[in-house]
Amino acid sequence: RPKIGVLALQGDVREHFSALDACGADAVGVRRVSELRSIDGLVIPGGESTTISRLLTVFEVLEPLRELLGDGLPAFGSCAGMIMLASEVLDTRPDAQHLDAIDMTVRRNAFGRQVDSFETDLEFAGIDGEKMRAVFIRAPWVERAGDAVDVLATVPNGPAAGRIVAVRQGAVVATSFHPEVTGDLRVHDLFVDIVRKAR
Ligand code: GLN
Repeated sequence: RPKIGVLALQGDVREHFSALDACGADAVGVRRVSELRSIDGLVIPGGESTTISRLLTVFEVLEPLRELLGDGLPAFGSCAGMIMLASEVLDTRPDAQHLDAIDMTVRRNAFGRQVDSFETDLEFAGIDGEKMRAVFIRAPWVERAGDAVDVLATVPNGPAAGRIVAVRQGAVVATSFHPEVTGDLRVHDLFVDIVRKAR
C-alpha cells in the first residue's frame, strides 16, 4: 500500500484519511519535515489557506515542502489545498505563502457572497461514469492555468459557468471543491493511482 501523508496542521484532515484508506492507501498525518520525507504522496486538506501558510512557515516546513514538490512528490490539494499548491494567489493576505507546485493563478474566495457555498454536478476529465457531485465551501477558482496544466473540470452552469475548478500538472492534482466530503472516491482513487505509478 502506498503511504500517503495528509498535512495535519489545520483543516478537514480526517475526511481525507477515510477516503485514502478506502482507496487502499496508508494515510498518515504529517507535520514535520522528517515525516514528509517518508511518504509517497501528500494531501493538503481544505481549511484556511492563510492559517496553513502561517503554520507551514512557523514550523519551517514551507521551503522543504516546496523543494520536495519541485522534485516530483505527488500531491493533491482540495480547496485551501489548491490555494497552497498555486504559483500565484489573488485576494489573499500580503504575507501568505504558497508552494508553486502548479503553474496557475488562483483567486481565493472567488465565488463571492451570493454563491459562497454551493453544490453542483460536473464532468471530470478522465473519470467516466456519473457526473461528480462537487461541494464548494468558500472556494477558490483557477483564473489562469499555465501551458503545462491540464484542466480537469469547470463549473457547468450558473454565474460562474466555465470557471476552472480542477487541474493537474504532472503528479499534482488540485480541486476547488471537496471530494473528501461526498463519499465519491474517484478523485482520491485517481490520486492514489498517480502515487502508485510514481513510486
Ligand atoms: N476560503 C478558504 C481559504 O481561503 C478555503 C475554504 C476551504 O478550504 N473550504 O483558504
